[in-house]
Amino acid sequence: MKNTNTCPKCHSNEIVRIPSFVGASGNNIKAGITVFSSVTVTRYLCTSCGYTEEWIDDPADVETLKKYYSWKNN
Ligand SMILES: [Zn+2]
Repeated sequence: MKNTNTCPKCHSNEIVRIPSFVGASGNNIKAGITVFSSVTVTRYLCTSCGYTEEWIDDPADVETLKKYYSWKNN
């Protein structure tokens, strides 16, 4: 959806990108002690059927989560 701009469920191409921000009401994943070390999650919404996908847009953020959760799970 992020890459093809097409909904995998209904094949519509009416996709909107919903950005997030670090904060109490943002869509984010904890990656440290405070909310400010969280990683933001971007949603892609199909406005035709309502299907949503979530992506970490920044590769550096993906790396942060990888490190944080690899450490926690070992
Ligand atoms: Zn759809």
